[in-house]
Amino acid sequence: MITRTDAVVLKSMKYRDSSKIVTFYSRRFGKVKGIAKGARQMKSKFGGSLEPLSTVSLILYKKDQRELQLISQSDVLKTYKNIHSELERMAVGLAIIELINQLTHDEEGNDALYTLLVKSLDELECAHKHFMNFFLAFELRCASVLGYMPSLDACKGCGRKLDDLVAEDSAVFQTGKGAVLCNRCWQPETVPRQGVVQTVRSGGSGTSSDEGNIRVSIGALKGLQRLLHDPLESIGSLDLGSVLGNEIDGTLRLYLRQHFEDLKPIKSFDMLKRFKRPPA
Ligand SMILES: [Zn+2]
Repeated sequence: MITRTDAVVLKSMKYRDSSKIVTFYSRRFGKVKGIAKGARQMKSKFGGSLEPLSTVSLILYKKDQRELQLISQSDVLKTYKNIHSELERMAVGLAIIELINQLTHDEEGNDALYTLLVKSLDELECAHKHFMNFFLAFELRCASVLGYMPSLDACKGCGRKLDDLVAEDSAVFQTGKGAVLCNRCWQPETVPRQGVVQTVRSGGSGTSSDEGNIRVSIGALKGLQRLLHDPLESIGSLDLGSVLGNEIDGTLRLYLRQHFEDLKPIKSFDMLKRFKRPPA
């Protein structure tokens, strides 16, 4: 079957002397892998359309049950000039496609996820600052589209809103349930497993917990809520600052790992964090 779909290139690798094997996230089929014969020859018809982060119109010769489809044509729909020309923006873009590659299975179409992916890259391309927010927002929204949207606006026990919890400084985030419990409602003895509450506040990432219950500042919970619900076009103007940014990053890492066990570290993002860390 010859079929056409829009897609974003996630990964591209050399295959034999002249070809490439390319992984796409496509609107119609979700993640799909294909072979582009002759893609590495000088005058290839594919041009630059198979580079990661390219948004393309793809024509596939597709057979069900075949792991590797035949890519018959790929035309660039959009080039992200700013993403390609700035290291930090580029690292965030690469982190986004690395994450979607890890969290999705082959050939499970998800229109909402495709739309989120393209919109995130579009807004990252236009943003003026705070590029890392786009990855944090994408992590949260991607998990949400895949069925794990956390409920962050109020305590799950008593219903008090985050704004009413500010005086308490922090609350417990149950990563397994995606729910917040205030200090009044948090009673470790009522939690099925012995709840060891960990803090991710100092240093951000690097803490891990099998228990899944972590103490998070109200500021970070509010930041997470905005990353999840604010319009994507305004995410670049959200100034989280490095302390809150690290806490949010650490919290999200634990949240995602709780729901996607096979999740490996996102190399592009970790590289970016090392790059951004001020010299000691
Ligand atoms: Zn409560």
